[in-house]
Amino acid sequence: MRQIAIYGKGGIGKSTTTQNLAAALAEKGRKLMIIGCDPKADSTRLILGGIPRTTVLDVLREREEEDVSLSDFLSAGFRGIKAVEAGGPEPGVGCAGRGIITAINMLEKLDAYTPDLDYVLYDVLGDVVCGGFAMPIREGKAEEIYIVCSGEMMSLYAANNICKGIQRYAESGKTKLGGLICNSRMVDNERQLVEEFAKALNTRLIYFLPRDNDVQRAELQRKTVIEALPDIPQADEYRNLAEAIENNNHFSVPTPISIDTLEELMIKYSL
Ligand code: ADP
Ligand code: MG
Repeated sequence: MRQIAIYGKGGIGKSTTTQNLAAALAEKGRKLMIIGCDPKADSTRLILGGIPRTTVLDVLREREEEDVSLSDFLSAGFRGIKAVEAGGPEPGVGCAGRGIITAINMLEKLDAYTPDLDYVLYDVLGDVVCGGFAMPIREGKAEEIYIVCSGEMMSLYAANNICKGIQRYAESGKTKLGGLICNSRMVDNERQLVEEFAKALNTRLIYFLPRDNDVQRAELQRKTVIEALPDIPQADEYRNLAEAIENNNHFSVPTPISIDTLEELMIKYSL
């Protein structure tokens, strides 16, 4: 079983990419579970055809731990992909990171990690790498991490910050960075910029996903591109990403860069 965490800034395309990746892997016969670790709880919407009614934290709020079973929050969607949302606290109270820890512990207790699974994918909000959001990597759950970014400054800033978090835990555990996934925002010289950024971080650009409005068309049907529009080029892009991840053998401990270096890189490629 490969446990993979997908990190990145909010809105960068983590959930879209994770679910299309999962769908492409499921098409190849792989067995998967996606665990949404974002209080938005929309990490599995395209796999399930809508937002699930209950998250792990919702269930735990309503019931005693002993009365909870997996079927209360685990559902199967496209090609049998299992989907769970950790959920979050009520807005304004509590800590979202803490919620993720509670949810993952609950999944473990209820034996959600069945041996038939080839992949467990964690879709994790990475704007803040507080202890809770680091949970999937901190406890050695996910040994492989990919960061979704684009050529935009704030997404690279977030990616660099995430690398600081990974570096901390990679040194003590088995967790390694598998690469950056560029989800294009059509920035000038974007591929070259992200490639050089990746190199500076001691990793590599594992895949460059083009921007395509068909992604949103599929989303309006509450489906992945793989399910809704399997014959369009963007579906093949996700299949190629799945291949790249299946065959990846380049893992590293990242080396975060300074803000000055990041800014110099941005300037170099904006000309
Ligand atoms: P995150 O999970 O990082 O917050 P989402 O996956 O929800 O981000 O994506 C945010 C928006 O960007 C969604 O509306 C999605 O349809 C759109 N999007 C993501 N990837 C692409 C792409 N490659 N091409 C076009 N739109 C995309
Ligand atoms: Mg998301």
